[in-house]
Amino acid sequence: MTTREKASEQMADWQRSNGKPDTATTGTGAPVGLKTASLTVGPRGPLLMQDFVFTDEMAHFNRERIPERVVHAKGTGAFGYFEVTHDITKYCKAKIFEFVGKRTPCLVRFSTVGGEKGSADTARDPRGFAMKFYTEEGNWDLVGNNTPIFFIRDPILFPSFIHTQKRNPVTNLKDADMFWDFITLRPESTHQVCVLFSDRGTPDGHRHMNGYGSHTFKMVNTKNEAVYCKFHMKTDQGIKNLDAATAGILNGTDPDYSTRDLFNAIAEGNYPSWTLYIQIMTFGEAERFRWNPFDLTKVWPHGEFPLIPVGKMVLNRNPKNYFTDVEQSAFSPAHMVPGIEPSPDKMLQGRLFSYSDTHRHRLGSNYLQIPVNCPYNARPKNYQRDGPQCVDDNQGGAPNYFPNSFSGPQDQATFRECPFKVSGDIQRYETGNDDNYSQVTTFWEKVLTTSDKNALVSNIAGHLKDAAPFIQKRAVDSFTKVHPDFGRRLQESLNKHRSKAVSQANL
Ligand code: NDP
Repeated sequence: MTTREKASEQMADWQRSNGKPDTATTGTGAPVGLKTASLTVGPRGPLLMQDFVFTDEMAHFNRERIPERVVHAKGTGAFGYFEVTHDITKYCKAKIFEFVGKRTPCLVRFSTVGGEKGSADTARDPRGFAMKFYTEEGNWDLVGNNTPIFFIRDPILFPSFIHTQKRNPVTNLKDADMFWDFITLRPESTHQVCVLFSDRGTPDGHRHMNGYGSHTFKMVNTKNEAVYCKFHMKTDQGIKNLDAATAGILNGTDPDYSTRDLFNAIAEGNYPSWTLYIQIMTFGEAERFRWNPFDLTKVWPHGEFPLIPVGKMVLNRNPKNYFTDVEQSAFSPAHMVPGIEPSPDKMLQGRLFSYSDTHRHRLGSNYLQIPVNCPYNARPKNYQRDGPQCVDDNQGGAPNYFPNSFSGPQDQATFRECPFKVSGDIQRYETGNDDNYSQVTTFWEKVLTTSDKNALVSNIAGHLKDAAPFIQKRAVDSFTKVHPDFGRRLQESLNKHRSKAVSQANL
């Protein structure tokens, strides 16, 4: 009996299930006579142009990589199902919530955000928690993170914010000045920074963290009545985090730690699951709420908007092939279904554009024909045609214009979006000075334990120490606004780092 983990046994497992070797072929299916030698004039070469077996192999190899995602490049995924356990049809008509006991197949991709495709799983970073549900009325993607909030509330800041997590354009190194300069100039990031630098910023694998839809969405029922809602996926495995030291060691010794953990758990039949809860806010409550309910840097307090259980998501199948099932998977908040609609949340509105846009660049305009992205439970019928890599039947002889008199697909009034009123002066509204601190103060005072606070201060100081002194000062001033103790303790910790650096320099 093997003592190796399931992931290490993959090749042997494949061999057992595949039986005798197939005949090797070219890409066009022509059998190959000798796989280990190119066609040459004499044993020492040169090669012949006519060796199409070689050019077929080499030319495809040259094109193996598709652009990596600008964000969330390092990821892993698994398939499973979502099962309804509680009836929420009074809020939502989406097919996925149709009746208690209903199961809908799903795919989840977990990722880090800032690092490249080969970067370490255990880096301090938010984790992407992107879900795709294959419903009968289209694929519904809930493209969330393991944090209920985000760094910014206006999407125009997103490219700059991400650049601060990437590499310095000259040194090609991660740069503490870039990160902390932006963070301290945009104090709306303080809430998310505190979550990120708590030990939840280094989860112990993907199974032990929560997922959040983060944005405010709208739910619509069969009577066309709407409410605002938020989605929370709480891990049934329990929250487990790595402390900074352990995460740091794993970054070097086992950069694929979370990928391996998820694969092995599922391969061993130890299927991870999450419980879905929603929070509901009526339109009236939204108007009266003391904060902007569409501000992605803030939560809705549970005490006022209690968690309502909805169902369970179970992951029980590893990808059959990483590239086809995970690398080519394309999630977008714009993949919505009847019953789930956008709220005015500016960040959501920005993402509705940018995710599908980046997939059209990364995978091509027919990315929804790729099997993992294809809404196979809904059988799409539309008037889109042609484009690069059209691999289905391109809708055969069906009319390619609308309206038409030849029984092409028809729109149906029951699927119209729920009407809603908006008014206001068109302007660029600067939101940098909205209340950036009160929820963070609650987080510090009421949520974090003593040891959580110690870890938060130490984790921030361990990173901030590398930023320029004027940026460190601005950061201390900002965390002092969260709580004077927080600022004081951070300054003390930075002082210790400084004394240590000075004494090392004098050695
Ligand atoms: P509650 O006491 O009802 O909820 C506190 C929440 O904090 C729980 O959901 C808990 O998650 C979560 N939590 C605990 N430790 C951390 C951490 N290190 N990083 C992130 N989340 C953590 O309080 P309220 O709803 O009134 O919210 C109070 C504060 O809690 C908020 O200002 C916000 O900072 C934070 N918070 C609130 C959430 C919300 O949706 N209301 C969600 C997450 C955080 P769990 O139960 O899974 O352990």
